[in-house]
Amino acid sequence: MYAEDEYLQLSGIQHYAFCKRQWGLAYIEQQWQENVRTVEGHLVHERAHDVSTEHRGDVITSRAMPVSSRALGISGECDVVEFHKETAQRDDAVFLPAYDGIYSVVPVEYKRGSPKQNEVDALQLCAQALCLEEMLSCRIDAGYLFYAQTRRRQHIEFTDELRGEVKRIFQEMHELYRRGVTPRGRRTKSCNACSLRDLCLPALEKKRDVGRYIDGEIGREEAEA
Ligand code: SF4
Repeated sequence: MYAEDEYLQLSGIQHYAFCKRQWGLAYIEQQWQENVRTVEGHLVHERAHDVSTEHRGDVITSRAMPVSSRALGISGECDVVEFHKETAQRDDAVFLPAYDGIYSVVPVEYKRGSPKQNEVDALQLCAQALCLEEMLSCRIDAGYLFYAQTRRRQHIEFTDELRGEVKRIFQEMHELYRRGVTPRGRRTKSCNACSLRDLCLPALEKKRDVGRYIDGEIGREEAEA
């Protein structure tokens, strides 16, 4: 169990999974740059956060819901949490004050663009689900990622593997954060889509040049020996 002053930002997992160095620069070194991609992301999120609660038929929709987990040591916000009224008794459902019946819990995360080939968004959604499970004492089997470009929901199942990966990543992030270590990076094609590339790449290139110089000097000394 983590103390509140040790909590990391839940949303950091998507940056960490994209590039550990990006997460370190943004969250350990507090460097951040707004670029088109992040701004577009904010606009999608603002639309998701227009209303706080809405009740339509058998679904109650809560927006911008704060969540946290002592077990994972994280806090953040869910874009949308839907509570679906159940007709039959279910052990994994929850009671809601001021509403009749029991409800299953379904997190929905809004994203710019279209579904990705990697697990980055699914990891963030699963982290939200783990927070909700801890806070509401329930079980959440699946949630949705909504993509602005396709305007479609992608069903994400919270498998044991995905849950395990979320826990492993946050443990690793806590360790790095505690030590204040920004992970090293290397140039990949992901760098083209990185909001911190103008900060990161010159520093990476410089480190590589220094590394090359040291290697060269050692090689020269060995040759002369
Ligand atoms: S520029 Fe590349 S290595 Fe640097 S933080 Fe971004 S993705 Fe990571």
